Formats: sequence, C-alpha cells, structure tokens
Amino acid sequence: MYFEKDLETMDRERLAALQDERLRRSVRHAYEGNAFYRERLDDLGVRPNDIRGVGDLKLLPTMDKTDLRKHYPLGLCCVDESQIREVHMSSGSTGTPVMNAYTEGDLKQWAQCMARCYAMAGMNPGDRVQITPTFGLFNGGFGFFHGARERGLFTVPTGSGNTARQVKMINDLGVKGICAVVSYSLRIMEFMEKNGIADLPSLKVGLFGAEAFSDALREKVEKGLGMEAFNIYGMTETGGVGTTGMDCPDHSGIHVWEDHYVLEIVDPVTGKPVPDGDMGEVVFTSLTREAVPVIRFRTRDISRVLSRDKCACGRTHTRIDMIKGRLDDMIIVKGVNFYPQQVEETLMQIPGVGHHYEIIVEEEEGVTDVRINVEAEPGVTGHTVVRQLKHALGFSPKGDVFPIGSLPRQDGKQQRVFHRTLEGVAK
Ligand code: ADP
Ligand code: ZN
Repeated sequence: MYFEKDLETMDRERLAALQDERLRRSVRHAYEGNAFYRERLDDLGVRPNDIRGVGDLKLLPTMDKTDLRKHYPLGLCCVDESQIREVHMSSGSTGTPVMNAYTEGDLKQWAQCMARCYAMAGMNPGDRVQITPTFGLFNGGFGFFHGARERGLFTVPTGSGNTARQVKMINDLGVKGICAVVSYSLRIMEFMEKNGIADLPSLKVGLFGAEAFSDALREKVEKGLGMEAFNIYGMTETGGVGTTGMDCPDHSGIHVWEDHYVLEIVDPVTGKPVPDGDMGEVVFTSLTREAVPVIRFRTRDISRVLSRDKCACGRTHTRIDMIKGRLDDMIIVKGVNFYPQQVEETLMQIPGVGHHYEIIVEEEEGVTDVRINVEAEPGVTGHTVVRQLKHALGFSPKGDVFPIGSLPRQDGKQQRVFHRTLEGVAK
C-alpha cells in the first residue's frame, strides 16, 4: 500500500537526480535565508553553486544539536517569521530541548511523510487510528495527527495517559491502528494483564517510535497486543516523527524517505562516510524543508545501511537497520562497548523476563561498572540473567531481578540508562 507510489517506488537513477536538484535548491535557500548557513559556507570558501548534487555534500560542514540549541528558539530560521505556522520542541532526552519551526509547506511535507507511513502499515482512508503521544510541543501527537488527516483516517486523538480510557476507546470505536512511544505499548500490555483483558480484537497495527526498539521487544509487543508492530523513526530536527521513515510489512529495515532527506552514515570520530553495512552515525540533510533546513545534521543515532536494492514491498528507498542507540548511550565497561539495545535484545529472549529493565552505569574512582536490573516472573534467577548477559556482552554485569511492575517508570520516553557516581565523588 502506497501513499505516493511514484515517489516511493521511483528507480534509483531518477531518485538520485531528484535529490541532486533538491539539494541544490535547499543549499541555496539556506545560504540566502540565514547568516548561520552563509557564514559557515563562506568560511570554507564554498558557494552554493559549488554544490551540484549529493556527490558534493562532503564540501559542506556538518551541524548538530548544539547549533540548534545555540540558536534557540528561532535563530536558524530561513524564512520570514510571519511564515511560521507551528513550532515543536524535542523531548530533551539529552539536555536542553531544541525547537523546530514549520511553514505551511513544512507541515504539508511532514503530513505527507507520515501519510506514507500510515499507508505502509496498511492504514487506509476511513480506518480508525488512536494517537496516544502527547499533543503539545513534543512532535509526536501532532505529527501523527497531521499525517492522519493527510491519509484520510478517522482520528481518535486521546493523547497521553489514562490507559483505562485508551483501552476503552480502542474497543468502543473499533480502532485499527495505534500510535505510541515504544514503552507506552508496554504500559497497555501491563494494563491488559492486570485487568485480565486477553485481546483488543479490532487492533491490527501499531506505529511505535521515539525509543530504541529491538526485534525481541517487538515480538513481545506483537504477541501482547495481538497486532503487527512498525518501527517509526524521526526527530525534532528533521521535522518530527515519521519524517525520516519507517519499516514496511517486509520488516527488513527502515525505509528512509530519500526524496526528502539525504542519508549518510559516518564514522562518529572522523566524520567520514563508512561503507554500506558498517555501523556509524546517521546524518541527514533535508531537501524540502523551508523554515529550518538541516544540512548534514549529525543525529548521534547509530545504525547502518542494510540495503539500497528494491525491497519486496516495491519501494526503492534505502533501508537502514533499526536504531541501535545513541552515541551518548554507548557504554564502555572493561574494554567492551555496547548499546542498551543489545542488553534489551538479550533480556527479552530469556523466558519469564518482563519488558522493563534499567541499566545503571556506576562510576567509582574512574572505574566503570554496570548494574542491570530487570523485572521477571518468580522463578527467574539473577544467575540465569547474568549468564545470558555475559554470553551476549562478554562480561558479567551486576544486577538484580525484581517482581513485574516494581521498577520505576516514567511518562513519555522511557529512560533506560542511569549514571551514578559512587563514593562521594562530586558529580
Ligand atoms: P530527544 O529525545 O533527543 O530530545 P526527539 O524527541 O526529537 O529528541 O527524539 C528524537 C530521537 O529519538 C532520535 O534522534 C532517536 O534517538 C530517538 N528515536 C526516534 N525514533 C526512534 C526509533 N524508531 N528507534 C530508535 N530511536 C528512535
Ligand atoms: Zn519495503
């Protein structure tokens, strides 16, 4: 199921030509629209005319979250502020939130990206969708909403919280699709278990994002909620949820909407592109955003190119692996580095282990240690958990097993990694 079949399935040669043309236009727009972009190019002696296509991207400097933070709230805007129709802000998982602004055209672009995601998940005009992320500055609620309007869906805009009412709405209205932050799907499952609700018969698909989503956790969610789960990707800086893509029914990676964004995977240290298949930092350049275009935006998210071949679903847009985590979440212990997602993948495969866990990185006199606490059914021992983790990670973390439902939970995005400094060393 496509929303814009021509664009989603266009052959790669045409796609490349479209990217080149759009990149030229976008770079010129940024250069002429805001001194930030102009000065950075001028400093390097690069003129917009030097950028003929994607092949010239390497001539351009990269940017990151700190640039957006420094220019908070509207300092990177490339259009007259009278053209702004909406703003959104990141959830601030890694510090001061950043703001992004949208023109009418940007809202349309977002809605179209999202409508593609809905169509890809099998949501057709008239189908009912329940939107459970917050409606507000966080881009989740409105992103799903704008896309649902574009796709012609029947929207149930519950927003966040009140799980009893969420479940009631799904049943009362026969909701087919649900949108949520990954960990909220777990909350619904917990609610169902607690209240003896075996299934939600009308529910067929879920669009889950905003947090790392391992395959093992996806399987749990699919089983628990009795539906097909999709992994939707996006961030405030690129224009919000769904702008950078989602996986298709083939579930063989996230299709990046390449007519709207140029994807690069780079070595986080050198900033140089890595070969397809190698893990690296995801970098996006927007091609069609007006208010705040991003040029070589370093996301700090880790992934790799899985395939540039035409997918079984017919789409030609590059597929990347599910996000392994953020660079900031990489943990180095006893010379081994790993991402929280690897821990999740391992834990979820241990029978009887629940879906809630926390990783505590303890720092004591310069030595890092890791404690992994997990919820599990009675009978699962710490010994079993540690043995499995050792097998997967190469070292034995400390850790405890807790009864299901007893570890703390947060609203919205779930924090999985906590840092603690022991022995009174000032933080
Ligand atoms: P932040 O959480 O950094 O304050 P946002 O609220 O804009 O900012 O969230 C964007 C970030 O959320 C992404 O850069 C990525 O780290 C994470 N994210 C979003 N979707 C996914 C996904 N499907 N899988 C893993 N991580 C995701
Ligand atoms: Zn596909």
